[in-house]
Amino acid sequence: LAKANGKNNFQFFNSELNRQLERKVAIEHGLRKALEENELSLYYQPKVDLHSGRIIGSEALLRWNHPEFGLISPNEFIPIAEETGDIAAIGDWVLQTACKQNRKWQKMGFPFLTIAVNVSARQFQQQDFLKKIHTGLQEIGYSPKLLELEITESIMQNIKESTEMLKSLKATGIKTAIDDFGTGYSSLFILKELPIDTIKIDKAFIDDIKEAGDYSMVRTIINMGLNLNLEVVAEGIEDEFQAEVLAKNQCNYGQGYLYSKPVQAHEFEQLLIEGLKKDSYHTV
Ligand code: C2E
Ligand code: MG
Ligand code: MG
Ligand code: MG
Repeated sequence: LAKANGKNNFQFFNSELNRQLERKVAIEHGLRKALEENELSLYYQPKVDLHSGRIIGSEALLRWNHPEFGLISPNEFIPIAEETGDIAAIGDWVLQTACKQNRKWQKMGFPFLTIAVNVSARQFQQQDFLKKIHTGLQEIGYSPKLLELEITESIMQNIKESTEMLKSLKATGIKTAIDDFGTGYSSLFILKELPIDTIKIDKAFIDDIKEAGDYSMVRTIINMGLNLNLEVVAEGIEDEFQAEVLAKNQCNYGQGYLYSKPVQAHEFEQLLIEGLKKDSYHTV
């Protein structure tokens, strides 16, 4: 019986592996057409001033509506696009689309609205990255000061080139943020040496903020950021208590389901016009 069971387990394991492999291959192939077939879209999550509850900008988050699998998470397909190289074309599209959209909102009466765009390491390390962004922004008359690029600590693998790129971006006025801050191994060094503007504290640290919980780490990160004159943004705020603790500790900006999930452009426009549907905010 045990033997029969073992065999079944093996077969199950085997077919599960096969299924995953087939899915990966399908994604690899599908990526090539996703752009032409209009299967990609951007969602926007408000970035909020924690004290006033006002929307000061948004983060563009990529979605892929796959013809066979439905909505696929960027966590699944971005790493594959990095492997295949499709990230270059996709990344260009994301930047152009996000800036064009935000330019529309700026013209609608929100002139200081910022937009944050995620940039993968491979994209960031392209030779012509800076030039492409620069001409892209000029084409649509977009102020570089109102664009923020979010990169992760993985760019540290090429510390020298990355520092040069960050310097050049700074010179053009474009802002840069370290995303998922605190999850990499070289956080302190990054914070001190890299010419960045913002740190986004990873959701894992925000999750620690609960009544009777120990959230000394998050306070330490906020203080380090502020001492180095960086803007500090909290990711993944889900409840009032977290928002209150963050605001009290001078973390001034945040994003999370408490305020809004990432939404489509027309829904974000509603949020801009009507304000977030929440009646109380924390004034400290
Ligand atoms: P990220 O940049 O750290 O984005 C934050 C993720 O947390 C998003 O997941 C967002 O939907 C989710 N999130 C926001 N607030 C909350 C909350 O309160 N609770 C919970 N549970 N989740 C929250 P998403 O949209 O699935 O994106 C996952 C990751 O994929 C992003 O992490 C980013 O690293 C990457 N990504 C997304 N769009 C792009 C893109 O255009 N280019 C590149 N290179 N990467 C992208
Ligand atoms: Mg991000
Ligand atoms: Mg993040
Ligand atoms: Mg992330």
